[in-house]
Amino acid sequence: MKTIGLLGGMSWESTQGYYKAINEGVKNHLGGLHSAKIAMVSVDFAEIEALQMQDNWQQAGEILASAAVSVEAAGADGLLICTNTMHKVADAVQSAINIPLLHIADATGEALVHANVKTVGLLGTAFTMEQDFYKGRLTQHFGLKVITPTTSDRADVHRIIYEELCLGNILTRSRKTYLDVIERMAAQGAEAVILGCTEIGLLVEQADTDTPLFDTTAIHARKAVEFMLAAECEQDS
Ligand code: GLU
Repeated sequence: MKTIGLLGGMSWESTQGYYKAINEGVKNHLGGLHSAKIAMVSVDFAEIEALQMQDNWQQAGEILASAAVSVEAAGADGLLICTNTMHKVADAVQSAINIPLLHIADATGEALVHANVKTVGLLGTAFTMEQDFYKGRLTQHFGLKVITPTTSDRADVHRIIYEELCLGNILTRSRKTYLDVIERMAAQGAEAVILGCTEIGLLVEQADTDTPLFDTTAIHARKAVEFMLAAECEQDS
């Protein structure tokens, strides 16, 4: 088994989901007492969020690049940045290390193509929904048409992430807000919706809606397990 590196803490509410999903994935494949080999650095999200608000992505990128160097030194063979938004600095992180960064948008794009989805709705922070680092990758590398919510829906989606989900507050009225937004994107032609923020799966689950949901935390964790167990899986086949 390879060791996976995690850059966590953005927020820790979602990092615990990664930790659990990766361990469950390894256990499902190898059975018994097997568990995942993980090297993690977990940052202080308040520092990262302040830099996001200041539009200081360079410094945020430096913090994550330095954390990634520590994760590599701790023995990781590959790295996950456990947030969609901070993939805005993915290039700065990748260029600081010699191990591969498993990009969350690539894992998600592959899952959508595999499911034959052509037009997809995207929920996430304003950065993720509005900027090109994420949407552009889905469009250019995977040929997807990406629909985002209206301006006022995007503001609600963004606010709920930072003011509630990243603080561990899961509110019924916010679930309703999200489900309404999902319904409006489906009415606009979205065949599926990306939960493109690693905390959204804490609020909304597939059982809440008929629209197929692609939860980036689950997809990214699955990608990590595939990477970790690639040699074992080859032996099996
Ligand atoms: N975890 C979130 C994401 O997936 C938002 C927190 C952050 O800004 O990193 O985008």
